[in-house]
Amino acid sequence: SPSIGVFALQGDVREHLVALDALGVDAFPVRRADELERCDGLIMPGGESTTMVKLVRAFGLFDDFAKRIHEGLPTLGTCAGMIMLADRIRDGIEGQETFGGLDITVRRNAFGRQVDSFEGDVDFTIFDDPVHAVFIRAPWVEEVGPDVEVLARVDVPDVGDRIVAVQQGPLVATSFHPEVGDDLRIHRYFIDLVTQS
Ligand code: GLN
Repeated sequence: SPSIGVFALQGDVREHLVALDALGVDAFPVRRADELERCDGLIMPGGESTTMVKLVRAFGLFDDFAKRIHEGLPTLGTCAGMIMLADRIRDGIEGQETFGGLDITVRRNAFGRQVDSFEGDVDFTIFDDPVHAVFIRAPWVEEVGPDVEVLARVDVPDVGDRIVAVQQGPLVATSFHPEVGDDLRIHRYFIDLVTQS
């Protein structure tokens, strides 16, 4: 079974490890370069993207992660992890860096203060039944490049449809937290992608 690492300098690492364990893969936290080396696939968890960047810079690992992702390491980004994979951010802090790789523009904390956190059923192009999604200070996707496939949108009241899940080759990202709750379809989809590549 594939070896899948979870970026573990910040974020909801444990929830992803539990989900991966349940699906029978070799799952481990990644805090060092040699752990990153071992990865056939990587998960960038939810958390706080600004803190992730600070810590990964402090540990001297920014370029290692960015390089592997840009070389085609299959990577799933959830919430803050989606921000880390986005080529462009709106409402980031001044000069906020990302690893990039996904040709998308995300808006941080996009859903607004009134609806900071919410849950809803989201239709996916790749699944027969909707995914029950938990959004926590979530980003949404405002622009996608030609190679990006939109996997899911939500209808935001007074705003309209907003993209909340995308894929570009081996990179998959969701605005919400598939690691929260017991629906493992997104993790399974990602593991299949890792196995195929
Ligand atoms: N708002 C957070 C950020 O900007 C993301 C929130 C989350 O991952 N739940 O990184």
